[in-house]
Amino acid sequence: MSLMMEHLLTIMRDKRTGVVEFRRAADALAPLILAEAFAKLSMVKLPVKTPCGVARGVRISSEVVVIPILRSGLTLLPAALRLMPEASVGILGMKRDEKTAEAHRYYEHFPKRLPNRVMLLDHMIATGGSVMDALAELITRRGFRPENIHLCGTVAAPEGIARITKYIPMQNITIAAMDEKLNDKKYIVPGLGDFGDRYFGHNQPLSAEELARFLTGKHRALIPGILKATRMMRKDGVSEEVKEALTRAAREVYERGGGIVIKAATLEGPFRK
Ligand code: URA
Repeated sequence: MSLMMEHLLTIMRDKRTGVVEFRRAADALAPLILAEAFAKLSMVKLPVKTPCGVARGVRISSEVVVIPILRSGLTLLPAALRLMPEASVGILGMKRDEKTAEAHRYYEHFPKRLPNRVMLLDHMIATGGSVMDALAELITRRGFRPENIHLCGTVAAPEGIARITKYIPMQNITIAAMDEKLNDKKYIVPGLGDFGDRYFGHNQPLSAEELARFLTGKHRALIPGILKATRMMRKDGVSEEVKEALTRAAREVYERGGGIVIKAATLEGPFRK
């Protein structure tokens, strides 16, 4: 992993990182991981005429179907298509059952003409359940050769990688980090939490700093109070008084017309009206 990848992943891992910064870091990291993953596809060397002469060049095979596994894998797709605009696209929708941590497929859509190489996109390789389901579909039902299936993700746990490498070679897997283990809820430790929740802002408040950036005009006057109270709330043992002050400040923003911001931020607890 390059220093830049490590830098971006550190921002994403930090539990204080809010939605806006998480997205910014994830969107910056995506092309860096994908560039490594695509470089493992076949390539041809070819000369290229420049306006001033002839240079040595290469072309990476764009005969590939890129398949994001929903939800989180979807966020890798724009970067994948910027790098490989000719690639075809398939979609696999998987939902993790929060009780059993099993992946259930609820949607699939593949192009009619499938190239023989696949790039699966899935950020968090935890138990490997979603990828295993995708592999079953691709190898058993659609006849792909395992050596032509690639996987690109952000963080993996050894448990998931051990399952997946029974089917596809390790060199076909490109990830930014291999973490320690899974916890009892099958989340990656240390990991970065739920990628989809953090990127899409599901069950995820904006940080106070992000909220503050959205506030304009007269609502700006409330920012220092909100920031101070929020910082205090982050500390353990914050008093009820502070919580009430924060609730009052947030409510005031809401009532003065900042309600959209408050709602969009899906703020928790004291912010709720
Ligand atoms: N999915 C995530 O988003 N995070 C994990 O740690 C595991 C699965």
